[in-house]
This record gives sequence, C-alpha cells and structure tokens, in this order.
Amino acid sequence: MQPVIIEIDEDSGFCFGVVNAIKKAEEELDTVGSLYCLGDIVHNSDEVERLSKKGLKIIDHDDLSKLTDTKVLLRAHGEPPATYKLALTNNVEIVDATCPVVLALQKRILKAWTENPGAQVVIYGKKGHAEVNGLVGQTQGEAIVVENENEIDNIDFSKQIFLFSQTTKSLEGFKILVEKIKERMNEGVNFVYYDTICRQVANRMDNIRKFAREHDLVIFVSGKKSSNGKVLFEECKKQNSNTYFVSSADELEMSMLSDKPRLIGICGATSTPKWQMQEVKDKLLTIINYV
Ligand code: SF4
Repeated sequence: MQPVIIEIDEDSGFCFGVVNAIKKAEEELDTVGSLYCLGDIVHNSDEVERLSKKGLKIIDHDDLSKLTDTKVLLRAHGEPPATYKLALTNNVEIVDATCPVVLALQKRILKAWTENPGAQVVIYGKKGHAEVNGLVGQTQGEAIVVENENEIDNIDFSKQIFLFSQTTKSLEGFKILVEKIKERMNEGVNFVYYDTICRQVANRMDNIRKFAREHDLVIFVSGKKSSNGKVLFEECKKQNSNTYFVSSADELEMSMLSDKPRLIGICGATSTPKWQMQEVKDKLLTIINYV
C-alpha cells in the first residue's frame, strides 16, 4: 500500500502584520504579565485563548472608555484617531501594533481628505470592520464605504472621487468597482483610485488555488469568524470539492478520509497559526495509523 503524504501549505498562516502584533503582545506579557488588547488580536479563538492564558485581556471600546492608567495594545487592523484621543484623556498608554501597511493607508486617506475639500473619499470595504472604522475615522466619518459595485448609488458622480480599498478585499472586486464608477462619472470630473489591497493576502488566492488542485483531500483550518478564512475556503472548495473546513484538530472526522486520499494538504487563513495546522497534521497521522 502506498504511504499517505500530508503537507502543510507554507504560504498559509499569519501575515507579517499579525505576526508583528502577537510578537509585541508577547514581549509585554513576558515582562509585565498582563496586557489589555482592544478587540481580538487575531480572528482565531484558539490563538486568542493561548495568549489569554499568558495574561492578554481582550476588551471592547466600552471597556476602554472605563480604563485609566494602564496599557492597551492596538491590533494590526488599526484604530480611528478617536481611540488615541480617548487613551490620552484616560492616561492609557498605547502599545501600537497597527500593521505598517494599514498605517500607511490611513495616512494616504487622511492626506486625500485634508488636501481635497469637497471631494469624496470612497472606501471599498466591509462596513463595521475594525480596519474600515479606522480608515473612515481619518475623514471624521465622512468617507463613503461601499461593499460592492451594487452599493455605489450614494456616491455623487458630479464630485471628485478618491477611491481606496480595505487591505483584505478582493482585487477582482476592486477592478469591477472601478469600472462601474468610471461608467457613472460625470464628464470632466476627476476620479482617482488607488489599489491598496495587501498582497500578503491577495497573492494567497492564486497560491491556495494551486495547492487545492494538487491534493486529493484538503483540510482548511480557520477560525469561524475570519472573513479571509471564509473567502479562501470557498476558493479551495471551488478548486477541489474534497475540501473540509475545521476550526481545530478536534473537528476532524473519519468520514473526511472516506475517499482514501494519498496526498492530503493542510492550509488555512491569514489568521491561522502554524501550530494549529501542525496539530491537524498530527491528529490526521494518528487517525490514519489507527485505520
Ligand atoms: S493582511 Fe496585510 S495589511 Fe493586513 S495586517 Fe496582514 S500584512 Fe498588514
């Protein structure tokens, strides 16, 4: 009988923004023993739990407004200026783990909005997403958020537009949106658009498509709350119908192996820790050896 090969996708796992945020959190936790973090540091409940055991306490904006004289970590998604202001008022020290890519995008939006009074800043992104809230905050709430090309009716096409994208949106979706806005623009009015999609995520789509096609069975590991996880999983499933979603090794089932795969691939979202994919591999090996 041919041996079963199990491979972990090298390109899956945390992007450098998340690695950096976790590193900053762990540095603080190793020296001080506890730290507040505004929102989930990563959309993966197991990684959050691992860090919680080391002393990380996840808080929301309501909690932040009640804290004084302490330290709070801002995660990779970034925050609007109001959060920094509140921290200053309450003597809360910020440990800023905003991803440098997001920080640069915030600055570009602020510049476009400040230097072009009367123009509209449009953000292609998910309404209410933490990163988008941070971006909209640069414009004192004035930026128009559109989730897709069907939501462009509240843009005024007789006024100049500056279009940006949330870093994790799809490149194809952005291109469609640009074309739709171009079609509706009034003649002679300026439409400036910036593709601000992070390639740490965008490039994963092609990589994961290839990875899914190359394996008999694909186990996709991700937290259920991760939007990036949902998108990548759907894509894997499109490429290889023998793809399963699990949040942890505990969710593996014998039935997933019913086709007797010879080459199994394990991959995941940008928020999936490498240790979790390794746990899935170890458990699969146990199941296979048992069978
Ligand atoms: S996806 Fe890109 S922009 Fe977002 S946190 Fe990761 S590295 Fe930063």
